[in-house]
Amino acid sequence: MRRLQTDILILGSGGAGLFAALHAKQAAPELSITVAVKGLLGKCGCTRMVQGGYNAALAAEDSIERHFMDTIEGGAWLSDQDLAWTLVSSAVERVRELENELGCLFDRNADGTIHQKAFAGQTFDRTVHKGDLTGIEIINRLAEQVWARDIERLEEHRAIALIKTPNNDALAGVLHIDMRTGEYAFVQARAVLLATGGGPTMYKYHTPSGDKSCDGLAMALRAGLTLRDMEMVQFHPTGLLAGSDTRMTGTVLEEGLRGAGGYLLNGARERFMQQHDARAERATRDIVSRAIFAEMRAGNTTPNGGVYLTMNHLGAEHVRAAFKGMVERCADCGFDLAGGMVEVVPTAHYMMGGALFNGDCSTSLPGLFAAGEDTGGVHGANRLGGNGVANSTVFGAIAGDAMAAWVRAEGARRAPDEDALQRAVADAEQPFHHAAGDIEQVREALLDCMWEDVGIVRSEAGLARAARRLAELDAQLNATGMASPDRAFNLTWHDWLNLSNLILVSRAIHSAAAERRESRGAHFREDFPKRGPLEKSSYVTVRLKDGTADRFELGEQLVQFSIIRPGESLLPR
Ligand SMILES: Cc1cc2nc3c(=O)[nH]c(=O)nc-3n(C[C@H](O)[C@H](O)[C@H](O)COP(=O)(O)OP(=O)(O)OC[C@H]3O[C@@H](n4cnc5c(N)ncnc54)[C@H](O)[C@@H]3O)c2cc1C
Repeated sequence: MRRLQTDILILGSGGAGLFAALHAKQAAPELSITVAVKGLLGKCGCTRMVQGGYNAALAAEDSIERHFMDTIEGGAWLSDQDLAWTLVSSAVERVRELENELGCLFDRNADGTIHQKAFAGQTFDRTVHKGDLTGIEIINRLAEQVWARDIERLEEHRAIALIKTPNNDALAGVLHIDMRTGEYAFVQARAVLLATGGGPTMYKYHTPSGDKSCDGLAMALRAGLTLRDMEMVQFHPTGLLAGSDTRMTGTVLEEGLRGAGGYLLNGARERFMQQHDARAERATRDIVSRAIFAEMRAGNTTPNGGVYLTMNHLGAEHVRAAFKGMVERCADCGFDLAGGMVEVVPTAHYMMGGALFNGDCSTSLPGLFAAGEDTGGVHGANRLGGNGVANSTVFGAIAGDAMAAWVRAEGARRAPDEDALQRAVADAEQPFHHAAGDIEQVREALLDCMWEDVGIVRSEAGLARAARRLAELDAQLNATGMASPDRAFNLTWHDWLNLSNLILVSRAIHSAAAERRESRGAHFREDFPKRGPLEKSSYVTVRLKDGTADRFELGEQLVQFSIIRPGESLLPR
């Protein structure tokens, strides 16, 4: 095993990881900083895939209070209000930093002010963007800035376990697999940031990047950390539906299309959203996804089993100019977005749930910090489009500043528990000790199980079925081995590790979904279709007992309405 040392180790190079690296370096230039990432820095993760844009209350007619109220109401009053306030108040500063210090250039109005577009579920058009491919602008500029600084990179290094000290009281470092060689690498660090970005890729239709398999959440669970809001999985209503033989299926067609006035039509080519919500197609993602799912269940579908999105009535030329990237993506799959109709289906997009964390991004494990989609609490029961990249960049920056200060003040280098290190290696080696089997079949079964029974609409019977199925799949995977003993770039091995994490996190989602007997935000129970009283809002927590996947410990905590109570508003009436 290779052994390395660094002061600050950052897991992941999305918006959270790269912002943390830049801020930590600026705050404490003398500290060594290493970014370890499963893919290539600047080329992986979901921040790069951001299409629509970034919410920030920049306009004179808008306000931080309005953005806050939209976030709290969108999250069905489940958010940690202090975290949500940090999000909306710091987003303005982050957008300025992205443009004025890091070199991003966002789209402009004729008067030179930043153009902000409409996104569903918001009372003001506040989404900052670069055309409809905003994430590429953000990640390219962040990556350039990281490359230009003295920041170490461990690319194609997959973190597999958080290793604590022998007496379990703090984090000592992180075990990785160097994917190029298959060698194990232990990185000892004074502070570690978990920023691997969640990503619900356990559903049949999903949007996140291929490198995401909830690794951070699985590592956090195995290390005994508590997660919250895991039942809250956001489905984006308009995933491209281009058949089962292309990975383009499930990829997202951005929210701005509905924001700009796009219509959804069922198989009979009739609009149906007005029957579900007064905002019609501009309703929040949960409402639109459920409405589409209802059409699918009723059999009112397109040839591939979804519904149609059409922009034709807005003028083909206008649509081509405003949504160039989306028009080209649809054309690649044989659809004319500007002048015709595109088949779409709800697609698993974002996890509101994640590790419990504090306002300075510290966690209950000394030495471990968390930011971005690996964390829970900012969005509550639902995330507004545009608040995802705001979340990862705002809290990534905070984490960078906080880790620098923490390492300077008290971040000792701690020796790892060598037994725990060996156990983590043995866990990763497990598939090499079994006869080769078909893990693709396990994956397909997982995707179907989560889509059917732990997806957009849930019920007691479906969840009971899923509990049995997930336990079976876990056992099946654990008995399935590799054909090749070679470790170097053994992608089947990494698929096995991905699946192992996805099954564990699926079981956490399932447990939390079974615990919440009401419908709220992204979580809808057919057998409990009503929402409980807002004043008694509580969030569900989940942690692994004794590190065993069958033994989740569930908890329920009342939301502290630290800024505003249900029924009140920060806005003038
Ligand atoms: C298609 C798409 C469109 C989106 N559009 C928008 C939008 O318009 N507006 C918006 O606000 N949000 C949008 N989002 C959500 C947004 O991308 C996320 O909220 C946010 O960018 C997540 O940032 P992150 O830094 O937490 O994670 P990511 O950006 O996903 O980065 C995670 C990083 O961790 C690495 N990693 C993963 N596992 C490991 C491991 N085991 N070891 C080491 N590294 C690891 C990955 O390789 C990656 O570098 C979109 C998401 C998708 C998928």
